[in-house]
Amino acid sequence: MKKMIECNQETRKKACACTYDCSRRSKYCECLENHLSKNQLPGCAFAKISKEAEKSYNRDFEYFAKLVLNN
Ligand code: SF4
Repeated sequence: MKKMIECNQETRKKACACTYDCSRRSKYCECLENHLSKNQLPGCAFAKISKEAEKSYNRDFEYFAKLVLNN
């Protein structure tokens, strides 16, 4: 049987690249579910490309695709 990996939310909180004040911070399952349900990606995906893009709080797939294509 495969061992479950423990989700350490305190560690994740420090690693989270999202700057929005949000109750889902460090709760990656909830964060991802929330954004995917709205055809969006979490802030950390945008932060990988640019800190300014992350701070725009535009999380739409289309915006992410434009950022990727322009890099
Ligand atoms: S990416 Fe979205 S859901 Fe996740 S912590 Fe930031 S604002 Fe909250």
